[in-house]
Amino acid sequence: MKKLQSSKENTVIKKLRRLASDNTPIDSELALMVLDDLSLDLTQLLEIASKPRQYYFAKKIQIHIINNLRNGYCPEDCSYCAQRKNLAEDNVAKESIFRYTDKTEDEVLKEAKHAWESGAYRYCLVSAGRGPNKKSLDYYLRLIKKIKENYPKMELCLSAGLLKNLADTKRLAEAGLNRYNHNLNTSPDNYSKICTTHTYQDRILTLELLQSAGISLCSGLIAGLGENSSDLVHLALELAKRKVASIPVNFFLPVQGNTVEQNEFLKKLEPDFCLRILCMLRLTNPQAEIRLAAGRELYLGERQSEALAVANSLFVNGYLNVQGSDLAETTKLIENLGYEIESYYTGGSSIKKDIDNSEEADTHDIIPALKIKTKEQLRPFHEENSLLSSLQTKK
Ligand code: SF4
Repeated sequence: MKKLQSSKENTVIKKLRRLASDNTPIDSELALMVLDDLSLDLTQLLEIASKPRQYYFAKKIQIHIINNLRNGYCPEDCSYCAQRKNLAEDNVAKESIFRYTDKTEDEVLKEAKHAWESGAYRYCLVSAGRGPNKKSLDYYLRLIKKIKENYPKMELCLSAGLLKNLADTKRLAEAGLNRYNHNLNTSPDNYSKICTTHTYQDRILTLELLQSAGISLCSGLIAGLGENSSDLVHLALELAKRKVASIPVNFFLPVQGNTVEQNEFLKKLEPDFCLRILCMLRLTNPQAEIRLAAGRELYLGERQSEALAVANSLFVNGYLNVQGSDLAETTKLIENLGYEIESYYTGGSSIKKDIDNSEEADTHDIIPALKIKTKEQLRPFHEENSLLSSLQTKK
C-alpha cells in the first residue's frame, strides 16, 4: 500500500517537475494537489516552483513601495479593509486609523523621489474609493505625468478602484501609467461574503477595460477571507487566463474593525500552507511577477527566505495602513540569500535610515506583531509633520 502511494506521489512530482521545466502552467487538478496533498513534499514543491522563477527572473527581486494617496472614507464595505467608510462605526478602529483626503501633489512628488532613491523598481499609488470621478481622475493624471517626467525609468502603478469606461482608462495609459492594480481578492463564490457594495464581476469588467486600453494588469488575492482551496485555485486560473502580469499575494491582516468572519481557512494559514499557496500560484502562472504582499512578515516570518525561491518581488515599508519590514531589513534578507535587487536607480543607497523605521515614530499596537502606520509614516512629507521637519533639520 505504502509502495503504491509513493509511486503515485512520484508520478505527480515528476509531472510537476516536467511542466515547471517547460514553463507550462499546471491544471486545476494538479493545483489543488499542490495545496492539499500532504504526501507531496513541500521542499520538493518549492524546488520545482523555483524553476520558472529562475527562468524568467533569475536571482532578481523587485522592490515595490506604496504611496497611500487617500486613506479612509471609502463608500464601499470590503470586510477586510481599514479604509471603508463604515469603519467609523468602530470607535477604536477609527481612533487607530489616520484618515485623510488627497495628499498634495508636492507631497506625492517628494515621496516619489524618496521611493526612487530607495531603489524602488515600481511605485504604487493607491487611493481609497469606489473608483475615480472626474476630479480624482484629473488628479491621478497630473501625478502620473509629473512622476514619469521626473523618474521615467521607475515603473508606475495606480490602484484607484473600479474603472467606468474605456476613454478614461486610455487617458491613464496616455499619461504614462505602466500598470494598474485591481485585485480580484477571492473567488466569485466567496465574493459576496467579503463585500456587498460591488461584485466580483464588477472587478472583472475593470480588468477587461485595462486590457483593452493596453495597460499591464496587477491583480492578486487575499488569503484568509473564508475561501477554500478550490476558491484559490479558481482565482489562480482566472489570473492565468487573463495573463495578469503581476500577482500580489496578501495574507489577511486582521486590522481592528475588520468584519471578516473567523474561518477555517484563516486557521490553516501556517507557513507551510502559505508556501504551498505561493508554489501553486507560480506553477499556474509561471511568467507572472509573484509578489509577497501584506502579511509576509506575520505569516511567513523567517520562512520568507523559502518564499523568495518562488516569489520575485515584495513590498517594503509596509502596506496601506499596517507597518512592515523596512528597506534596510528587507535588503539584508535579500542579499543574505544571494538575490539581487532589480533597480534602475544607480545613485547608491543614500537613504540609510528609513523614515518609516524611525524610533521617534509613535506606534499603535492592534494585535501583537501587527502595528498600524502612524501619521508620520503615512504622510512623511506633509508640511505639518514634525518628524519630517526634525529629519530635515538634522541634514
Ligand atoms: S474599495 Fe478598496 S478602499 Fe474601498 S473598502 Fe474596498 S478595498 Fe477598501
